[in-house]
Amino acid sequence: MLKTMEYMERYKFEQFTMCYEPSVGLKAFIAIHSTTLGPSSGGVRIWPHPTEEDAIMDALRLARAMTYKSAVAGIPLGGGKGLIWADSRKDKNEAMLRAFGRFVDTLGGRYITTEDVGMTPRDLEHIAQETKYVVGLPRTMGGSGDTSEMTGLGLYLGMKACAKELWGSDSLAGKTIAMQGFGNVGRNTAYHLVKEGVKLVVADFYQPATEVANSLGATIVKPEEIYDQKADIFSPCALGAVINDNTIKRIKAPIICGGANNQLAEERHGEQLHQMGVLYAPDYVVNAGGIINASCEVGVTYNPDRAKEITQRIYDTTLKVFQTSKDEKIPTSVAADRMAERRIAATRNIKPMKRAEH
Ligand code: NAD
Repeated sequence: MLKTMEYMERYKFEQFTMCYEPSVGLKAFIAIHSTTLGPSSGGVRIWPHPTEEDAIMDALRLARAMTYKSAVAGIPLGGGKGLIWADSRKDKNEAMLRAFGRFVDTLGGRYITTEDVGMTPRDLEHIAQETKYVVGLPRTMGGSGDTSEMTGLGLYLGMKACAKELWGSDSLAGKTIAMQGFGNVGRNTAYHLVKEGVKLVVADFYQPATEVANSLGATIVKPEEIYDQKADIFSPCALGAVINDNTIKRIKAPIICGGANNQLAEERHGEQLHQMGVLYAPDYVVNAGGIINASCEVGVTYNPDRAKEITQRIYDTTLKVFQTSKDEKIPTSVAADRMAERRIAATRNIKPMKRAEH
């Protein structure tokens, strides 16, 4: 595994901050990958990684993915990510979140935080006590609300684009979708899928989550069995790196399209899926609904219709990624990266303008 600074050098990171507040046991990291297109933004994740190196690497990988996500989505934000190294179900409390908010504030707007795994909109309210650099606050506070609703809509549309690409019709009626993880994103995607007549197979090791899935008519399988399901679409909606050397051959579905960030354990797994003839919808292309929604709150009054309108573009963007992949004979994962890098490079090259002196 690369060391932190080696990783930052290789992927051109701007900043990495370690945050420690002993009175509340806060150990957190804020990674800023790029501010070329706008202030860096990305959710703060609360997760009890086994080691500090794992936590740091997760924050760095997620921050970089946010740069690419916002770039491909066409929104004026850069990429950043927060990571609170703790167990949200045991350690999370108001003081810890407020302490994190103070650290966010010290960055003066270079990083705008929002919700991710282990967080709720209510938790964001605590962070917002300490900093204005928060998006995704409840609608009753003038915010854009739960990011996962729009993430669910965008992921659903991404799946329809995959269906169009592979089967010529974007209808998902009668298709089977194996979903790994049924939290905020899984659930909010499933609402759309169930309406369209999709058969859901769900795995989650958190019982309340499987109960919700069950109430929507899903078949529940054990977490380890999800890779082996006979399905039309495999949808990772839990954590990252689930497409790896151990799982890649087990996945039976011809399409992989999910909401989890950083699904490919390594870049070469995108190449391998391409060679295997699996249509992979790059995660950050199809899960951009949340950050799109939040971006509609930065510097302007939030308008849900505007957020929905931009989220709906995910359908066309996903098809454009597939077209780029075919035109340039590259895996879809590489095609999406190229689309992001081209937008960032074009913006970076704009000359600074000097105002005339009067
Ligand atoms: P969440 O915490 O609400 O749900 C995740 C669920 O996955 C939990 O119920 C958890 O028990 C389950 N899970 C974890 N590991 C599992 C495994 N190995 N097998 C089965 N289930 C497992 O989180 P979320 O907000 O739904 O986010 C899910 C993923 O989507 C994350 O990777 C997140 O970064 C990404 N994402 C979220 C948003 C958003 O708007 N919330 C936006 C873009 C991407």
